[in-house]
Amino acid sequence: MTTPLIAGNWKMNGLRADGVARAEAVARFVRAGSVGPCEVLLCPPATLLTPVAAALAGSGAALGGQDCAASHGGAHTGDIAAAMLADLGCRYVIVGHSERRAGHGETDSVIRSKAGAALAAGLTPILCVGETGAQRAAGETLATVRGQVEGSVPDGAGARIVVAYEPVWAIGTGRTPAPVDVAEVHAELRRLLPDGRLLYGGSVTPDNAGALMGVAHVQGALVGGASLDAAAFERICQAAGKAL
Ligand code: PEP
Repeated sequence: MTTPLIAGNWKMNGLRADGVARAEAVARFVRAGSVGPCEVLLCPPATLLTPVAAALAGSGAALGGQDCAASHGGAHTGDIAAAMLADLGCRYVIVGHSERRAGHGETDSVIRSKAGAALAAGLTPILCVGETGAQRAAGETLATVRGQVEGSVPDGAGARIVVAYEPVWAIGTGRTPAPVDVAEVHAELRRLLPDGRLLYGGSVTPDNAGALMGVAHVQGALVGGASLDAAAFERICQAAGKAL
């Protein structure tokens, strides 16, 4: 059995005081063993990576970035290379989040380059895929997800990649697909990626985590809003630990 991965994506939230306090609360519950066999990961804003790394040190919780550059370094003002994230203690980096696809025009080919850069730096990319509400309404969910996987997962990534199915219409909305719909997408993801770890993301809460984590081929969650509340995040981890 693969250990479930529960990743908290803090997005652009947090200053040092509240970010460190939240990371310390997560470190406490991971250290206490309250989440069973889960691998717990925090992806804070880049500005908080160093203090969050210090707060998590020795707890067993992992650290990740929310994005990385496709390039390895040089004249790219504002960008962060994957090796820089690794240098701060990151083991993972999210790439291709729908907020970056939509807000920064990231294409599958850019995301493939970013995932490749992450792998080259020794990081595990968490690559996000998922359909919009309009694509779901048009019956294009599977074709959309298939196209994103084929266009953005680097060749030969094998077990070194994590793919998160995140329906765009479920992110931050409080709406989730029915478990049967998640199952359909995850069956297709498993067919395309026999070895990669597969997550579900989109409005995961302590109340729905058990049902979503119980779906075949779901091996963890990417959690946005609920990861900003350490107690809710702990309950999600606990639910996943029981379901998986
Ligand atoms: C996300 O943005 O990755 C996410 C899953 O957000 P939320 O849990 O808030 O829907």
